Amino acid sequence: MKSYLSHLECTETGETYSADEPHSLSPAAQKVLYPRYDLELAKREIDRNAIEQRPPTMWRFFEVMPIRDESNVVTLGEGGTPMLRAHRLEAAHAARTLYIKDEGLNPTGSFKARGLSAAVSRAKELGLIRLVVPSAGNAAGALASYCAKAGMECHVFMPKDAPNANKRETEMAGAHLTLVDGLISDAGALSRKVAAELGLFDVSTLREPYRVEGKKTMGYEIAQDLGWRLPDVIVYPTGGGTGIVGMWKAFAEMEELGWIGPERPKMVVVQAEGCAPIVRAFERGERHAELWENATTIAAGIRVPSAVGDYLILDAVRESGGTALTVSDAEIVESMKEIASMEGIWPAPEGAATLTGYLKLRDSGVIGPDEETILMNTGMGYKYMDLV
Ligand SMILES: *Cc1c(COP(=O)(O)O)cnc(C)c1O
Repeated sequence: MKSYLSHLECTETGETYSADEPHSLSPAAQKVLYPRYDLELAKREIDRNAIEQRPPTMWRFFEVMPIRDESNVVTLGEGGTPMLRAHRLEAAHAARTLYIKDEGLNPTGSFKARGLSAAVSRAKELGLIRLVVPSAGNAAGALASYCAKAGMECHVFMPKDAPNANKRETEMAGAHLTLVDGLISDAGALSRKVAAELGLFDVSTLREPYRVEGKKTMGYEIAQDLGWRLPDVIVYPTGGGTGIVGMWKAFAEMEELGWIGPERPKMVVVQAEGCAPIVRAFERGERHAELWENATTIAAGIRVPSAVGDYLILDAVRESGGTALTVSDAEIVESMKEIASMEGIWPAPEGAATLTGYLKLRDSGVIGPDEETILMNTGMGYKYMDLV
């Protein structure tokens, strides 16, 4: 198999950079760099039906993944998660078609596996072997595990009140763990300082250009599972926003490849009442989200007070005709129980938040009963024992 990776492009200015040397944010604008592919050539050469014959991991989309040599892929079997029809929730809420894409079944129990499999594979290909990340929780466990698999050195900076499972899995995988008295943003500041001192490569999401490529595969899988079309609505628990912008990128790529048409789902951002910078910016009509002070929520993965890709998230939500809304921690706990008891999936609190968000939008009529909707359960509830 061959990748059609061609270059990196600044999402703000369009300036291009070589994809074959390490990059972080675009040097000139300090904005997110996206990997770009020769999709015109790929369109002529790739048969999407051949892809469906391959093993069901995210690496079946190798042609649009940023790895040149297959032997550099560091995989634990991520991707290919089930999209389950939620029949009992449909009946309870008079919904015609509701799906849960269960990302909790990924290695390390969250969809962070997708992003970090891509990032660690690319780091290996570029000869980077000492990596560091600030993490609200799940990214840490995922990076530690992929580094273990690859035999790389891993450093993690995590808020000291992150879920216990995230601390233990990070240590178990042999990473260097530093607990920070603060939030992910504080962990980020410290990790960048230590990275500069020790010469570590920072794989913070969207600062590093390849994690988004792992997460975009959720968009490819959704289209494939629906017979190469997209749903009406996707509800996404948004922290740094890598998954939502990744899926949005995937849709554009698939249209260029001729795999889908121009139709798009409404992209819905769900955040917690105690940490909702993107919702606030959406409501104010702004393209950049101010830092959210004193962020609190039990949904650790979306306790992200500022996002370097804020403009990408807000653009995607607006272009899609979607919306952004908040839910309370109490509502998250209710939805967690409802999903577990009605559908047999114990969701992460972040994933549970999507059900609350969906129901609120149904109540207000923003989403109709006939709109086919996918709730993204981004992680497994089992990692949040300290909550229950
Ligand atoms: C990181 C995380 C999120 C937020 O993902 P982004 O793509 O960064 O917005 C949501 N849920 C879980 C379980 C997470 O670990």
